[in-house]
Amino acid sequence: MFKKQSEQVDFGKRSGLKVYPVSIGAMRFPEDDNQAVALIRQAIDAGMIYIDTSRGYGDSEIKLGKALKDGYREKVILSTKCSPWGKKIEPTDDASAECTYKRIKESMQRLDVEYLDFYQIWNIMSPECYEKAVRKGGMLDGIRKAMDEGLVRHTGFTTHDKPENISRYIDEADWCETILFTYNMMNQTYKDVVAKAHDKGIATVVMNPMGGGMFAEGSPVFDKAVKDAVDLDNAIEAAHLYLASDPNVDTILCGITKPEDIFSTIENYQKPFLTPDQMQALEKAMAGLSMESMGFCTGCKYCLPCPKGINIPEMMNIVYTTKLLKAHRRAKEFYGWAFNEDNPEKSSHPTDCIECGQCEQKCTQRLKIIDELKYLVSCPELK
Ligand code: SF4
Ligand code: SF4
Repeated sequence: MFKKQSEQVDFGKRSGLKVYPVSIGAMRFPEDDNQAVALIRQAIDAGMIYIDTSRGYGDSEIKLGKALKDGYREKVILSTKCSPWGKKIEPTDDASAECTYKRIKESMQRLDVEYLDFYQIWNIMSPECYEKAVRKGGMLDGIRKAMDEGLVRHTGFTTHDKPENISRYIDEADWCETILFTYNMMNQTYKDVVAKAHDKGIATVVMNPMGGGMFAEGSPVFDKAVKDAVDLDNAIEAAHLYLASDPNVDTILCGITKPEDIFSTIENYQKPFLTPDQMQALEKAMAGLSMESMGFCTGCKYCLPCPKGINIPEMMNIVYTTKLLKAHRRAKEFYGWAFNEDNPEKSSHPTDCIECGQCEQKCTQRLKIIDELKYLVSCPELK
């Protein structure tokens, strides 16, 4: 049995639309406008017709606006979104219908289109966010006004909330036509709610199919695990086939920065499905690579606070990524972000450690935290 990029699937029964299994995640495009336009068109020509962008993704909407000329607008299902709690465009942004309606019009101008196929509520991460979005005079009312005026055709939301909360939203939200979830072969937190949404006729879109880039690293640890579990050659192929084989996933978002991203992903969507037994074997192999099952940090945070302001669980996550998973490029990204001014959980540098030992006394895993911090400082892959 084959799931092909050349064969369309229902984009949820509610929307009545059809998509192909691989879509465009428009968070990042090439810097150069001409290159970006050519690449976007190449992806659309290859069947990546659902496009997920946001007012908050830098100049993504502007670049898409340029690409969707010359007949390309009519070929795609264009979706954008906003989040007054996640990414304010102006400090006064709120979850009101007025503000949302204003952001819709603004996105339409940036995209230079006469209508949006989808306008989504971006990142419902708690019941409080959900209430703000759906209450009278809230975001959903702003979207409904735009729908009444023919500016928007469909709506839905994206989420990182707890599965039990999402399950409730699915029961309540008869207006919702799509949900965007994180889901991949190592993270099955939302597997059941993806299935529930699909059953209810809501289009299911998956972000982070590559575990935030972790499987695409060429990590020998992941590659060996998938070889042993399902006899596939690399983790990228396994990660794609895992999602391709889940009948509840309508489409995945693929970030595109070069033509190879398009064709290597689509190639994996031409291959035979994994059997349910193979999917289970893969899940088991990936579970065996989690921090906890490797006997490493559980993220419990009992070691905090550190008197020097070191974000110890995050430092342990970086040790895990580079030393145990050998996903060095990803670890280097984490390491850079850990000390970034924009990071709300910004850490002091491990060289600030005064070796007081407080953290080690409290660590539930009895980790040699001080030695691990020294490892980070000396690790050549993080330089
Ligand atoms: S040993 Fe270092 S990391 Fe641990 S609490 Fe003391 S200063 Fe912080
Ligand atoms: S106490 Fe130990 S296991 Fe828990 S977060 Fe801190 S380092 Fe990790």
